[in-house]
Amino acid sequence: MSIPADKFLDAEIVERKDFTEDLWMVRVAPAGECSFVAGQYATLAVDHNGKRIERAYSIVSSPYENELEFFIELVPGGQLTPLLYELRHGHRVLMRKAMKGRFTLDLKTGRTRHLMLSTVTGIAPFVSFVRTLYKDWKNGGMPAPLQLYILQGASRSSEFGYDTELERFAAEVPWLKYVPTVSRPWEDPAWQKETGRVEDLIRKYADLWGCSPADTSVYLCGHPEMIESGLGIFKRRRFPKESLQQEVYWIPPKQHTLKLPT
Ligand SMILES: Cc1cc2nc3c(=O)[nH]c(=O)nc-3n(C[C@H](O)[C@H](O)[C@H](O)COP(=O)(O)OP(=O)(O)OC[C@H]3O[C@@H](n4cnc5c(N)ncnc54)[C@H](O)[C@@H]3O)c2cc1C
Repeated sequence: MSIPADKFLDAEIVERKDFTEDLWMVRVAPAGECSFVAGQYATLAVDHNGKRIERAYSIVSSPYENELEFFIELVPGGQLTPLLYELRHGHRVLMRKAMKGRFTLDLKTGRTRHLMLSTVTGIAPFVSFVRTLYKDWKNGGMPAPLQLYILQGASRSSEFGYDTELERFAAEVPWLKYVPTVSRPWEDPAWQKETGRVEDLIRKYADLWGCSPADTSVYLCGHPEMIESGLGIFKRRRFPKESLQQEVYWIPPKQHTLKLPT
């Protein structure tokens, strides 16, 4: 194998929680130091049939925590997630030592509102932001005056993963609003809260929360189609390009278009 071993370290799975049959979280204890900023991702890897298969996963945990946490969706037929899915408490996974990514909280431009849009596992970096800021706030050291507004979409409420935690934070702190929304309420009859797709609710919540192009940084994370439609909406609302950040989790396969003879 050509990959130098010292770029990776072992990480032991110390906790696993399954939310649905294809969504779960793991906490891992890396056998070595890893530093990161909230919003960044780690690269997890498994050696399989003589090949190292690696993929990016946003870190859910805060840099203040000792372990790293991930929220993962099983992709049927995918190369890595079926292997990760088999890993239980006490098993080990490989992880690149270097954490990467620029999808971090904008603390430089002075924009005070931070509007965060996600689908299912795309909530991961936002949980990391909230856990980190909560600790700072508790210690009297918020890095800047900030308001966080998070919208998370899923087909059904069982897929949110972190809704209870985010609702608890939102009830306690004055700087966070969190709205989970279900796009298939007919499959979730007990659901009494917001319904609809994230992209269909952007205008409503941006207006309700007073998020204007002048004072708002926007973050979109997860499903490529939500991100594409969301970006279109913000551009039409004249949000400057530099106020929009995105973390696209996968590239959809190219649509095959029928070429007609000319
Ligand atoms: C910066 C970054 C952060 C990421 N963070 C997370 C995270 O926190 N949690 C997480 O679950 N994933 C995350 N991903 C996606 C992850 O890296 C893998 O792409 C995903 O887990 C699928 O890996 P796989 O090897 O099983 O599938 P692959 O073999 O890579 O893909 C198989 C096919 O499925 C498509 N595909 C990939 N992912 C999905 C999906 N979720 N739904 C539908 N189709 C898909 C691919 O485009 C491809 O056509 C992140 C990606 C990036 C770039």
